[in-house]
Amino acid sequence: MQLTIPDFALVVLIGATGSGKSTFAARHFRETEVLSSDRCRALVADDETDQGATKDAFDVLYAIAEKRLAARRLTVIDATNLRKDDRAKGIALARKYHALPVALILDVPAETAVERNRARANRQFGARVVHEHVRMLRASLRNLRGEGYRVVHVLDGLQKIEDFSIVREPLYNDKRGERGPFDIIGDVHGCFAELTALLDRLGYEEVALDGRTVRRHPGGRRAIFLGDLVDRGPGIVETLRLVMAMVRAGDALCVPGNHEMKLLRKLNGRNVNVSHGLAETLAQIDAIPAEEREPFVWSLRSFLEDLVSHYWLDRGKLVVAHAGLRQEMQGRGSGAVREFALYGETTGETDEFGLPVGSTGPRSTAATRSSRTATRPCRARSG
Ligand code: GDP
Ligand code: MG
Repeated sequence: MQLTIPDFALVVLIGATGSGKSTFAARHFRETEVLSSDRCRALVADDETDQGATKDAFDVLYAIAEKRLAARRLTVIDATNLRKDDRAKGIALARKYHALPVALILDVPAETAVERNRARANRQFGARVVHEHVRMLRASLRNLRGEGYRVVHVLDGLQKIEDFSIVREPLYNDKRGERGPFDIIGDVHGCFAELTALLDRLGYEEVALDGRTVRRHPGGRRAIFLGDLVDRGPGIVETLRLVMAMVRAGDALCVPGNHEMKLLRKLNGRNVNVSHGLAETLAQIDAIPAEEREPFVWSLRSFLEDLVSHYWLDRGKLVVAHAGLRQEMQGRGSGAVREFALYGETTGETDEFGLPVGSTGPRSTAATRSSRTATRPCRARSG
């Protein structure tokens, strides 16, 4: 059995004493990746089992975890993590450093854990402690996703634990291996004629693909669209079709803008404020012939749902995002990363539709621009 985890994650092991956490960690992770509470007890008290040293041991453990996560290194917490408060600490750490929180649960029969503890020289935990741990483990399993764990994997059964392997996968935003050259194109806002004129100027040629015309650069250059393809201009559907086809063909990358996210919410039946802009997108989608409309909307939704908040490119030297991205968020993943990439600096408040309220950051700038260009959306800007 194989589990894929992101190569930048905070992995929290959960299991009773004697369930095999440390053994499992040693088998699947580098020694330096694993932070063990027992080891930290030994570091501060010369005794792995000194329960009186627990607080100091965890202070040390979390201090190291913070340094590792700040440096974008996968980190494993090898402790029982049977209490919700302990697991919440893991979630808080993952959020602070925009790492994906992963829970791996070792659920072995109580008798096995009792047996293993009995065989260990320095563990005089009786059966009572183990049974209490197993009871807490069962309770823990109920709501790990609700607690904030994004990947939850329960390994129940000794054979499963034995046969298990872990594959590490780069985060979706991690395209450091892609070197370009890139042409980075900002908010098209349905100005399809201007977009094709721009692609002409940049040397992208028309090629036929699956009965549609896409654009491809003969020299292998790729376009990166920075979001806000939709709303306002007269060619929203054509813009979407072209960009979706170019992304599918590998000729372009695209990150989402706040306008795409609002459109997606609307397509998913959520309550959004259909202001000037979105109304035009919806009207232009409605104008698609009926038999084409449904497949278009279907593929549009899946395209929008798959958009990754930002890309980290060219050996880490280039980051693209719609509104911007703080350095400490780049190449990482969390709700805060996504929100910043889409909306920039926000006040932390949300409006009546659940969307972030901008402060003085990039989103307000975008709002200013929208009012300025509302009457003539596709007028070419200078430069
Ligand atoms: P922890 O308290 O959850 O960290 O458990 P450990 O990893 O320290 O394991 C407790 C004892 O069980 C040790 O003596 C291990 O050698 C043994 N053990 C752990 N995993 C396995 C396993 O998969 N198979 C067997 N046979 N023994 C194991
Ligand atoms: Mg252990």
